[in-house]
Amino acid sequence: MAVDGRKKGILERLDAGEVVIGDGGYVMALERRGYVTAGHWTPEAAVEHPEAVRQLHREFLRAGANVLETFTFYCNDDKLKICGKVLNITGQQINEAACDLAREVANEGDALVAGAVSQTPCYFDATSESKVKAIFKKQLDVFIEKKVDFLIAEFFEHVEEAEWAVQVLLTSGKPVGATLCISPEGDKHRVSPGDCAVRLVKAGANIVGVNCHLDPMCGVKTVKLMKEGLEAANLKAHLMLQPLGFHTPECNHGGYITLPEFPFALEARAITRWDMQKYAREAYNVGIRYIGGCCGFEPYHIRALAEELAPERGLLPPASEKHGLWGSTLAEHYKPWIRARGNRDYWENLLPASGRPKCPSMATPHEILLKD
Ligand SMILES: [Zn+2]
Repeated sequence: MAVDGRKKGILERLDAGEVVIGDGGYVMALERRGYVTAGHWTPEAAVEHPEAVRQLHREFLRAGANVLETFTFYCNDDKLKICGKVLNITGQQINEAACDLAREVANEGDALVAGAVSQTPCYFDATSESKVKAIFKKQLDVFIEKKVDFLIAEFFEHVEEAEWAVQVLLTSGKPVGATLCISPEGDKHRVSPGDCAVRLVKAGANIVGVNCHLDPMCGVKTVKLMKEGLEAANLKAHLMLQPLGFHTPECNHGGYITLPEFPFALEARAITRWDMQKYAREAYNVGIRYIGGCCGFEPYHIRALAEELAPERGLLPPASEKHGLWGSTLAEHYKPWIRARGNRDYWENLLPASGRPKCPSMATPHEILLKD
C-alpha cells in the first residue's frame, strides 16, 4: 500500500525496485478441477462457475500474488464460436464477469487487477491486422469500463501479433505488459528474443517477458536474452516471467504442446516447491522483478516464490502461516526419521523419484512446422 492507503500501481512498484509476484495459470488448473474443456481452453467458467474462479483467485492471493489476471484467456467470440460449446454466453459477458471476480478478490488484499488478452485464431488464419485488432479492442472496452489497473498481452507465438495487441491496449492510457510464449530460439518466425523485446518496447510495452510453453529455467534464459537485446538497443523496460510449472528440458522450439504427454499426462513433470524457490532466485538474479507462473502452477508454487523472495519483499504471504520455511514444521514431528526432514539441506538436495519404473526420463517431442 502507498502511504495514503491507496494501492500502488504496477509501474510505481516496479520503478521502486519492488518484487511483484504474479499469479499462476488458470485454464489448466481449472481444467483439472472440471471447469474448463481441454483443447478449447476458453474461460466461460467465469459465468458458469464463478465460485471456482473466485476460489482460485483467492488461493493465488493468499499464496502471495500481487496481481490477479482476469480469467479472459482466449475470450473472444471468434474462439468461442470455433469451440462450439459456448452457445448462450457472449465473450462480453465472460469478460465482464471475469473482471468483477478478479476485482472482488484483489480487494481482499493488496493485489492489482490485470486485464489480459491472448493470441487469436484469426491471426493464425492470416486474417487482416484490423480484424485482429478489433478483437483486442472489444476486450479492452470491457477492461476500461471495469477499471482494471493495468493490461497484459500474453501467450503470443508471433511478435507481430503481440505488437498489435500492445498498440491497442496502449490506447487506454494504462500500463501494458507483454509476454510471448517463445523459446531461446525466438518466436515462431525465429525473430530472436532480443529483437522481440526491442519490438515490443518500441510498440510501447512497459514490461516485457515470457510466459507458458517452457519450464522456468528455460524462461529465465529467454528473458535474459531479451534483456541483452534491450541493453544493446539502449532501451529500458521492466522484465516479467510467467513460465510453466512443468519440467521440459527436452522440448524443442514448439514448447510443451509438442510433448506426447500434453495435456493429459503431465503430472510426472510437475515442479516441486523447492525447485520453484530456485527459479525465483535465478529470475531475481538476472533482474526479473515481475515473477509468476502459468500452466502447471498451483497456489503452493506461487507461495514458494513469495517465500524465496521474502527477504527482498519484507513479508511472507498469508498461506505461509501453514508452511514452515524449508519444511521446518517437520522438525516438530514426534517420529525422529520425519523430524530429520525438517531442514533446508534435506529438501534442497533431494532428487525426487517418479515412482514409475518404466517411465523414461525424457520424451521425444513432436516436430513442428512453421505453419503449425
Ligand atoms: Zn500456460
